[in-house]
Amino acid sequence: MKRKIFRSLILLSLVTVILSVASLSIVLYQQISEDMRRELSNQIAFITAGVEEGNLDYLNSIQGSHQNSRITLIDEDGTVLFDNRADASSMENHIARPEVVDAIESGRGESNRMSDTLNSETYYLAIRLSDGRILRISSTTDTLFATLKSSGSIMALIAFLILGLAILIARFQTRQIVDPINNLDLEHPIDNAIYDELSPLLVRIHHQTDNIKRQVKEIQKGADRFKEITEKMEEGLVVLDDSGYVLSINQSAIKFLGVELQEPVGKHYLNLNRSSQLQKAIGDAQMGAITEAIYESGLKIYQLRTTPIIVEHKPRGVILLVLDITEKQRAEKIRREFTANVSHELRTPLTAISGFAELMKDGMVKSEDVPSFANRIYEEASNLVRLIEDVLKLSQLDEKAIPLPMESFDLMDPVKSVQKRLSTLAERNGINITVSGESGVIRGVPQLIEELVTNLCDNAIKYNKEGGSVALKVSKQNGKVGLTVADTGIGIPKEHKDRIFERFYRVDKSHSKETGGTGLGLSIVKHIASYHQAEIVLESAVGIGTTITIIFPKAMDQ
Ligand code: ADP
Repeated sequence: MKRKIFRSLILLSLVTVILSVASLSIVLYQQISEDMRRELSNQIAFITAGVEEGNLDYLNSIQGSHQNSRITLIDEDGTVLFDNRADASSMENHIARPEVVDAIESGRGESNRMSDTLNSETYYLAIRLSDGRILRISSTTDTLFATLKSSGSIMALIAFLILGLAILIARFQTRQIVDPINNLDLEHPIDNAIYDELSPLLVRIHHQTDNIKRQVKEIQKGADRFKEITEKMEEGLVVLDDSGYVLSINQSAIKFLGVELQEPVGKHYLNLNRSSQLQKAIGDAQMGAITEAIYESGLKIYQLRTTPIIVEHKPRGVILLVLDITEKQRAEKIRREFTANVSHELRTPLTAISGFAELMKDGMVKSEDVPSFANRIYEEASNLVRLIEDVLKLSQLDEKAIPLPMESFDLMDPVKSVQKRLSTLAERNGINITVSGESGVIRGVPQLIEELVTNLCDNAIKYNKEGGSVALKVSKQNGKVGLTVADTGIGIPKEHKDRIFERFYRVDKSHSKETGGTGLGLSIVKHIASYHQAEIVLESAVGIGTTITIIFPKAMDQ
């Protein structure tokens, strides 16, 4: 723009200089011609008077005094009678000269004739004398072209000076015009106090800036909301562009894929994780396929789901979803194993029952042995019923489908009730059950808590020694209520401690079976505790005894 204004100003100056020089030359030339004509007109008036009186003598007398003009006297037939510059007798007839023709006709004639070189022109003025002869006076001047040519160098010098000056002024002016535009504060366009002509433009820029700011704000808001939502997602989410560069990645994805880059956005997905499953899943999605793959990292199992982003039938990017399915896989494995175990556990008592029944049916059992066989059948059937009950309880707890309401009650109530209920069993095993402690209100399902206390107490009796004891205690600490079941039994070896809460896990299978254990008691305890957000603490020493403490959280209305 600066250059354009500068060039325009220079062009304007150049044209102005050229036009000025040309028009000055024309005016000068016209002035000179005018002066010359007036001068010749005056001269011819004088000479006419002289010739009318003194004829050729007069002309001869003034021959030397008129250096600038040529005087010619022509007879009526065109014969040159006198000429102050040439020999009249050698001159050709002048009757056809335009000024002579006009003078003969009207008494006065004039004409202008160029020289061959066009450098000069001659002006002729002719007057018809009273005796019919023609007196002609002429003078030669430079033509307009010659005037321009002669004044050319001085004009060029002037033009050059003017042009130099014009360049300086143009440069200064250009800067004066352009600088305020260059220094416009586009953040606050209408606060700029420059040319009025720019006001409409500045107002438009102001509106557009406002619009752009609003749009940027909206886009930013959308991006923030997107980030906020995706950051809260448990699933990992990665969005890639069509070349595989990361447009967006959330924290879960960073964690699941083990991304070590500080700023993964803008990097190629190969920098995130080099696992072949991930590369294949993304590669296939880039070709337009929806894929699902499993990716294992350490103890974790992830599911990778990729979806191509298709715009106008062309893949424009990829969305990668990473799901942590470790728990789900583990639960499925446990369920599978559980089903297999249940089938196995069911088969044992059923085989025994059907075996005994078959013997009795075939009359293979002596009549005095029938009661003992019936008793074995009864015991196995009881085991079967217990097992089925435990399986049902566990699956209910698994599904968290407990049809009973939560309520606040004193933990001492189920503890005392269990003590009472199991006292016969305890006595039979020579075990002494004691209850101590204080009231402690908890919030829970009483039936489930009673089940929990029963299972713990039952184990404490079953895995005890002759003459041993079981101490049930309810205590309070920082608002939390604890239930302790301590026995003086056989204890649990260290290597089994972590596993006894697993389904069907028994330290000593035969002992468990002997005592009618299903192998599900502690598993049910664990589920009930977790249902009540309670914590389990196990302390055990082989040959000394086992203490299991269940710590219930503070009841809300305490
Ligand atoms: P079970 O029906 O076999 O008793 P549990 O799930 O209740 O099944 O217990 C799992 C295993 O943990 C038992 O088989 C036993 O080996 C061990 N166990 C549980 N409680 C005690 C305890 N108080 N003392 C010693 N061992 C125990």
